[in-house]
Parts: sequence; C-alpha cells; structure tokens
Amino acid sequence: MNYTIVKMDSRKSIALIAHDNKKGELLEWAKNNREILIQHKLYATATTGRLLEEKLGLNITKFKSGPLGGDQQIGAMIADGKIDMLVFFWDPLEPLPHDPDIKALLRIATVWNIPIATNLSSADFIISSPFIPGEYKRSVPEI
Ligand code: PGA
Repeated sequence: MNYTIVKMDSRKSIALIAHDNKKGELLEWAKNNREILIQHKLYATATTGRLLEEKLGLNITKFKSGPLGGDQQIGAMIADGKIDMLVFFWDPLEPLPHDPDIKALLRIATVWNIPIATNLSSADFIISSPFIPGEYKRSVPEI
C-alpha cells in the first residue's frame, strides 16, 4: 500500500455519533466544548444531531439514524476525505442490530487515519489537542 499526505485545515469536519445509552454523555461533553465545536463543521447521525441542535443550538448536517444506514453514510464521507475526526460514543455493553455497520465505521475511520474518540476521556484529549485549532498533515492510502 502506498500512502500520501492530505492537509487537514484549521476548520475541521467533525462527525458525532452516540448510541442511546451514551447520548447523555455526548451531550454533556458537547456542552462543555460548545465554544470549540461551533468553530468547526459538524455532522451527526439523525437523533444525535437533532439532540445537539435542540439542546445546544449547534448547526449540524444530519444523516440517517445509525440503524438505518447513518454509520455507513458517515463511513462513505470518511472514505471520500470529507470527515477529519470522529467522535463515536458507541455502547460496549449492549448488542445492537447494526453491529456490522459500527465495526465497518470504526474500521474505515482507522483505514483513513482520522482521529477517533470513543469515550469521554479520549474525546477530552482529542478536542484539547493543538491540532484541532491548527493544521495537521495526515497520511492516507493512495488511491
Ligand atoms: P442516532 O444513530 O443518532 O440516530 O441515534 C446513532 C446510532 O444509534 O447508531
């Protein structure tokens, strides 16, 4: 596999997803980081996005709900180089009908070398990184 470098701008495209048992945690995290998040372009699955809009007044581009294909839509955006970072609070304690889609999304985000936050502390570490307001040169598979 050959790799090439793409530049991530200071205004990032960030995808946010939380499973039902994790939506409260994601909302709380987004509330605490609202001033940072509003400086970026935000995407989310349907219910997660609606909650972020309603509770925090964020402007979100929404995809379908996860079980209805939203994870796959976000995966396709990642493969197209249109998402820079994934905040995915998935539920490790409950089997979900769209488990294959969840695995596929985590896989494709890893393939395309974007930062992935899967829980509160990783989200805190990533959002406070200097690469969030700055630029970053990311190695990606050459197509
Ligand atoms: P939702 O989808 O934001 O529409 O709930 C996420 C999921 O449950 O996978």
